[in-house]
Amino acid sequence: MYDLGEIMKLCIAEKPSVAKDIAEVIGAKTKKNGYWEGNGYWVSWTFGHLCTLKEPHDYTEKWKPWNLDTLPMIPSKFGIKVMDNAGVMNQFNIIQDLVSKCDEVINCGDAGQEGELIQRWVLTKAKNDKPLKRLWISSLTEEAIKEGFKNLQDGNKYNNLYAAGASRAIGDWILGMNATRLFTLKFASKGQVLSIGRVQTPTLALIVERQLEINNFKSENFWEIKTIYRDTEFACTLGKIETSEKGSELLTKITDEPFEVLSYEQKEGNESHPQLFDLTSLQVECNKRFGFSAEETLNMTQGLYEKKLVTYPRVDTTYLSDDIYPKVEDILSKLAHYKTYTTPLLGKKIRKSKRVFDDKKVTDHHAIIPTGITPSGITPNEQKVYDAITRRFISVFYPDCKVSNTVVEGQVTDIGFRAAGRQILEPGWRIVYENYAGSKKNQEEEPLMPLFEVGETGEHFPELMEKKTKPPRYFTEASLLRAMETAGKQVDDESLRDIMKENGIGRPSTRANIIETLNKRNYISKDKKRIVATATGIHLISLIQNELLKSAELTGQWEKKLRDIEKGTYEVEAFKSELIDMVAVLCHEVKHQFVVPPPIICPKCNTGELLKGKSAWGCSKWKENCKFTIPFEFEGFILSEMDMKSLVSNQKSHYKYPFKKNSDEKQFVGLNKSWKLVKLKETKEAT
Ligand SMILES: [Zn+2]
Repeated sequence: MYDLGEIMKLCIAEKPSVAKDIAEVIGAKTKKNGYWEGNGYWVSWTFGHLCTLKEPHDYTEKWKPWNLDTLPMIPSKFGIKVMDNAGVMNQFNIIQDLVSKCDEVINCGDAGQEGELIQRWVLTKAKNDKPLKRLWISSLTEEAIKEGFKNLQDGNKYNNLYAAGASRAIGDWILGMNATRLFTLKFASKGQVLSIGRVQTPTLALIVERQLEINNFKSENFWEIKTIYRDTEFACTLGKIETSEKGSELLTKITDEPFEVLSYEQKEGNESHPQLFDLTSLQVECNKRFGFSAEETLNMTQGLYEKKLVTYPRVDTTYLSDDIYPKVEDILSKLAHYKTYTTPLLGKKIRKSKRVFDDKKVTDHHAIIPTGITPSGITPNEQKVYDAITRRFISVFYPDCKVSNTVVEGQVTDIGFRAAGRQILEPGWRIVYENYAGSKKNQEEEPLMPLFEVGETGEHFPELMEKKTKPPRYFTEASLLRAMETAGKQVDDESLRDIMKENGIGRPSTRANIIETLNKRNYISKDKKRIVATATGIHLISLIQNELLKSAELTGQWEKKLRDIEKGTYEVEAFKSELIDMVAVLCHEVKHQFVVPPPIICPKCNTGELLKGKSAWGCSKWKENCKFTIPFEFEGFILSEMDMKSLVSNQKSHYKYPFKKNSDEKQFVGLNKSWKLVKLKETKEAT
C-alpha cells in the first residue's frame, strides 16, 4: 500500500504490455489489480479505446428506430460513454478510482492522434482535474522511456492534437450515421444495410471507377516495328501503327536497306537512395515485395515497435530530425546481423543527406527506423518487415549509385529508330539490396550495350509485331494506398507526393483498416493482389449522386482541415458546422431523389427485362424469340405486381388465392419448369 501523504503519479498506457515496460523502467514493480505500483507511481492501462461517442439512441428515443423523417440527426452537444463491455467497464473503474486518488496524471498513450484521443476520452469520462503531463516518445526502448520521463511534456501542449482526433471522430459520426441510415432507408432492399463512411466511400468510389474502366475496356490491335542491329534492339520512333497494311508497307520499305547510326550519347548520372519509410511507403513496399496486406504490415510493424525493435510506426514523414544524427553511428554498430553492410560505414564520417535529415519535415515523429536492439523470437514475416526497414535505414548512409545512360539513334531510309540502355558503374547504396528477399537478380538492370559510332551502317533484322492495347490495371493494395495518399491523383515524383500528402484521404494509420472494412462489407474482394469491386460495391456507388460522399478530392480537403485543427490554424466549430450543413443538404437531396426501380430480369432467358403489356408482363426480348409472359389474370384472379416479382424470384406468388369453390383453402400460384402458371398445394412443389 502507498503511504498517505506520498505524492502519487498515475501513468496510463495504451496496452497492458506497454504499461509493463514503462512500469519496469520507472520502478513500479508491484502488480496490483489492473495496475502496477511502486516508486511513487501507479501505472495502469487501457485496451485501445475504452470510450466511444454516444450512439443516436443515447441522445433521444426518437433516434432509436431508423426513420427518414428524423434525418439528419445532429446532437446539440456530442457526448462520450464507456463501452458496453464488462472487461472495459472494470478497467475503466480502476482508472477512475486511481484518477481520483492521484496527484498527477501522466498520459502515456501512443504518441499520435488516436493515442491522444483514447487517453483524453478516458480522462474526461473519469472527470480528471489533476495536473496532466504527457510522455512523448518515439520508441519503447529503456533508454527512450527514461529520456521521455526526464522530459515529460505539459499535457495541454497536445490540446490541438486531441481536438483534431475528436473532430475526426465527430465528423465520421455525423456523416456515417446519417448517410448510412439515409441510403439504407431510401435504396436498400429488405435486410440490407448500405454502409457509408467519410473515408470509406470515396475509397470505394476510386476502386469502382477503375473497375468500370476495366469492364468497359475494348482491346484494340496495333502494330509496332522493331529491328535488331548489332544484337541491340531498336524501336521504331513512329510508335503505334494502326493497320497491318501500313505496317507491312513500312516493313517492306526498310527490309534490305542498311541501318545507319545517327547519334550515340553516353551520360553518367547519379541515382540517390530511396527515402526512409513512413507507414504508407512501408505498406506499399511490403505489398509489392512480400504480398502482405496493408493491415498485416501495420500489425507486424506495431508488434516490432512493441518489442522495441523499431521506432513508432504510425507516421507520415520520411525524414529524421537533426538530433537523431549523433545517434546513427551507435544504431548502425548495434545491427549485428548486418555487419557486412554497416562495417564499410563505421569509423568514417556518417553521410548526412538532405533527403534524410530535415527538421522542417519532422513534427512529432520521424521516419520508421530500427532502434539497434537485436531481434529474437520474431516470426519469419515480422523478420521480412524488420529487414525492409533496416536495409532502407542502412542504405541512406551509402553514397549514390553511379550509372551510365546510353541513348542511340539511327535510321533506315527516312524511318527513325531508337535504343536506350543503362549500366551501373558503382552500385553505392544498391550494395545493401544484394540478396534482398523478394528481389529478382538484376531485375532493374538492362543489358550492356555495345559501343556505336556515328555514321556506321550495316545489316539489320526488322520485324513487324502485332500488339493489343491493354486495359487499365486493377488496384493492388500498394497502388490503392498511393491513390489514397494523393486523393486519386497519379503522382510519381517523390517530393511532389510529400506536398500532396496534406490532402490525401484518411490517415496513414487508418487506411489499412478502411480497406479491410470494404472487404468485410463485401464491397470489394481480393483476387490475389488485385482489388476487385463487387456488384454490391458498384451498385452502392451508382446510387450516390452527391460528390461529397465519393469525391476523393473533396474528402482530401476535409482531411486538410483536420490537419489544420491539429496545427491550431482551423477552428473545430467551423469544421463541425460546415459538415453539419453539408449533411443537411445531402439528406434533403437524397430524400427527394427519384428512385429508379431495378429492372426485373426475365427468368427464362436471363437477359431480357419484364415489361408491362396490355394483358400480361412480357419479356423485352420477344423479338429475339423469348416468349415468356406472366398474364395479369390467372383462373379468374387478378395477380398483383408483388405476385409477379415473387413468381420471377421464387417461382411462387406473393399472395394465396381461394381457387376451390366452397372451401376456405387458399393456394399459391406457382411457375413450373415449362414457364407456365400452375396452382400450388401448400406442401407440394409445382408439377
Ligand atoms: Zn426472356
